[in-house]
Amino acid sequence: MKKLIKKKGLTLNELLVVIIILAVLSAIIIPQLDIFSDGANKSACRANQRRLDSATDVWYAHDKANLKKEPTVDGLVTEGFISGPVSCPGGGNYKYNKATSMFECSDRSHSRSG
Ligand SMILES: [Zn+2]
Repeated sequence: MKKLIKKKGLTLNELLVVIIILAVLSAIIIPQLDIFSDGANKSACRANQRRLDSATDVWYAHDKANLKKEPTVDGLVTEGFISGPVSCPGGGNYKYNKATSMFECSDRSHSRSG
């Protein structure tokens, strides 16, 4: 009489198929995550720029002597007009533009006009 024994686990070929499927799925999904990450960085940067503009308005209104000066990110933070370190998540730097009276990021893709 033959005894039927059920094997548990995967054969080598089944394991290879699973690994290939996972590799194909990750090759499709990982580039998509970069796109989401870029969009999130852009949104966070634009939000930072709006926060800096609001803090600048308060900074100007706080002291008339500030009207002769140009705001800086460090100045707004150290004087307490905006909380915490404010930095671009994409690695850009913020600089005040006198012509537009707004802060702008050095990373052009984070521009609020485009
Ligand atoms: Zn930026």
